[in-house]
This record gives sequence, structure tokens and C-alpha cells, in this order.
Amino acid sequence: MKAFDYLRAKSPAEAAAAAARPGAKFIAGGTNLLDLMKLEIETPATLIDVQDLGLNRIEPTREGGLRIGTLVSNTSLAADTRVRRDYGVLTRAIVAGASGQLRNKATTGGNLLQRTRCPYFYDTNQPCNKRKPGSGCAAIGGYSRQLAVVGTSDACIATHPSDMAVAMRVLDATVETVNAGGQTRAIPIADFHRLPGTTPYIETTLQPGELITAVTLPAPVGGEHIYQKVRDRASYAFALISVAAVIQRDGTGRVAVGGVAHKPWRVEAADAAIPNGAKAVTAQLLAGAKPTQDNAFKLPLVERTIGAVMAQAQDKRAAA
Ligand SMILES: Cc1cc2nc3c(=O)[nH]c(=O)nc-3n(C[C@H](O)[C@H](O)[C@H](O)COP(=O)(O)OP(=O)(O)OC[C@H]3O[C@@H](n4cnc5c(N)ncnc54)[C@H](O)[C@@H]3O)c2cc1C
Ligand code: SF4
Repeated sequence: MKAFDYLRAKSPAEAAAAAARPGAKFIAGGTNLLDLMKLEIETPATLIDVQDLGLNRIEPTREGGLRIGTLVSNTSLAADTRVRRDYGVLTRAIVAGASGQLRNKATTGGNLLQRTRCPYFYDTNQPCNKRKPGSGCAAIGGYSRQLAVVGTSDACIATHPSDMAVAMRVLDATVETVNAGGQTRAIPIADFHRLPGTTPYIETTLQPGELITAVTLPAPVGGEHIYQKVRDRASYAFALISVAAVIQRDGTGRVAVGGVAHKPWRVEAADAAIPNGAKAVTAQLLAGAKPTQDNAFKLPLVERTIGAVMAQAQDKRAAA
């Protein structure tokens, strides 16, 4: 690990101002960043610790939703009674991820910004356009079982690994930020994560040094909330694919998929196709998919998982 300065900011303004230093990086729970620093994939000159900023509360919004401070731990967010009652898909997605100890440290903002689990990204002997721009992509033509099938580019086929982000996407969350100049922004989560294109190292629409202060959820939409994660072992593994869904009594709903793209994947036409069944939804969701030989299994897996989720929603409605 390379030497770095450490600064514990006392206010969001102080943290954002400190982020103007060259090579500065925020640290929250550290569960992703420190691993990357040990491998020297991330080499920040200064770490700005954001844990004392008072951004660890979950509060109601005037619109009837919830405002989740960026430092709220994944454990606290999943356990919050309002989240469990009104945004069940979020609780289910969070507890499907990592381990209890990691969730105690992992934060809301940090989870959205965790980096890909592409194996070649972590192997510094391999070319990787995300880690080292312009060096190539070892995954294309390499081993790609875990990687993306849709929204890919010739530069990168990595997936976004977060479970929580998939639920946030289906709930239409908004990411609130502040920059070094004190200006605030509200970014719809649909626009927050980027596709790889020719710049896979630019993963979000955050500007350098911009601090996430909170994530807001709109007023509850009701319906059955389901999160189904498919992985190689029963726990403590990243998703091969995952499905977050909110299905209403009349059979309409919304669906987002994880493990298939560089960002949580949701398509308007797929939501509209929900009353027509899993095949129709998947056809819209994965239109234009370009799987590799190793990960073509994800296409039927998505369809079957959406089918299972819809059947689960129907059973719950029948039992209610
Ligand atoms: C073994 C293991 C298994 C895991 N399994 C899963 C899993 O199954 N599903 C899953 O979803 N996740 C999983 N995770 C990932 C874990 O959820 C993330 O590491 C965690 O959520 C990151 O949060 P953090 O607060 O620790 O972020 P940090 O490591 O502190 O930071 C991550 C990134 O976010 C930036 N950052 C943090 N806060 C802010 C802010 N407020 N504003 C701007 N930038 C900020 C940091 O600069 C850094 O770039 C796993 C992790 C490990 C180590
Ligand atoms: S898929 Fe993306 S993260 Fe993986 S090696 Fe290629 S460029 Fe790097």
C-alpha cells in the first residue's frame, strides 16, 4: 500500500472542499477502497474520512418518502422499520449481499460506488481499460462467466456488482451531492451509473471530488416487493444475475436486473411488458444483448428468474 495523508472532515462543506486536493478520495466504510489500495489499484494521495459528517440518519421527506444519509450502514438501512414496511425490495437486496460484518461497515454511498468484481480488474498483470485506460481488456476473449451481456462496449464488459443499487433503481431513488464549491445536485439513479463506452474508468456522473450526501426514495408505491439473487453458492457471493421487482395487484409493475450490465439495468418497455409475462419482459430488457460463450446462460437465467419472481408475486397476492 502506498503512503497517503488522512483527514477526518467535520462537515460536508469541509469534506467537499478538501476533495479539491489532487489525488484526494473519500473513505466511508472502507470495505472496498482499502482492498483496492492494498492492491495499489487505487492510490489516493489523501483519504478524506466522512464518518463524522452527521450523514447517518434516515428521515422522512416532505414528499412522503425517505432521505437516507450517505453514512447509514447497510445493516441499519435494511433493518429500518419504514424501509422494511414500504421498500421491502431494498431490505431484501441488501441482506442478499456480502456478510453481516461487511454490512455493518458498508455505507449507502460507498455501496453505490463500489467497483466492479471483474477478475482481470483485480489482476494487475492483466490489461484492463478500467484500471489502466488504453491498456486493453483481458476479459474480452478471456474468461467472462460473471460479466455483462448488455450495454457492453469494445472497451469493457464489466458488471456493476451492487445488490442495493438494483433495488434503488427499481425504486427510482435520487442521489444527492455537494461539490467543493458548495453546489448541490440531485441525480436520478437512472443517470448515476454510466455504460462503459470508450471510457470504462468513468463509472458515474459524479464530478471529481463531488460528495454524496444522501439517497432519497420517493413515496412508497405499494405492491409486492421481491428481490431474487442467483449466485454460485447460497451466500456470501456476488450475483450471477439478480432481479428486483415491485408487482401491483393488477399485474402491472416494474423490474430491474443486476449482474447483466455496467449499471443496474431497467428498461421502460420491459416494465410495460410485465402483464405479458417473463418472456416478453426479458425480450425487452435484453434486446441487443451480446453475450459471450461463457455467459450466454445469463439470458435464459434472467427469463426464468423473472418468471419465478412473477409467480412468487402472484402467490403472495393470492395469500393476502
Ligand atoms: C468479501 C466481500 C463480499 C461482498 N459481497 C457483496 C455482495 O454480495 N453484494 C454487494 O452489493 N456488495 C458486496 N460487497 C461490497 C460491499 O457492499 C461494498 O464494499 C460496500 O458497500 C462499500 O461501502 P463502503 O462504505 O465500505 O465504501 P468504501 O470502501 O469506503 O468506498 C467505496 C468508494 O466509494 C467512495 N465513497 C464512499 N462514500 C462516498 C461519498 N459519500 N461520496 C463520494 N464518494 C464516496 C470512496 O471514495 C470509494 O471510491 C462485498 C464486499 C466484500 C469485501
Ligand atoms: S471487462 Fe472492464 S474491468 Fe474487466 S478487464 Fe475488461 S476493461 Fe477491465
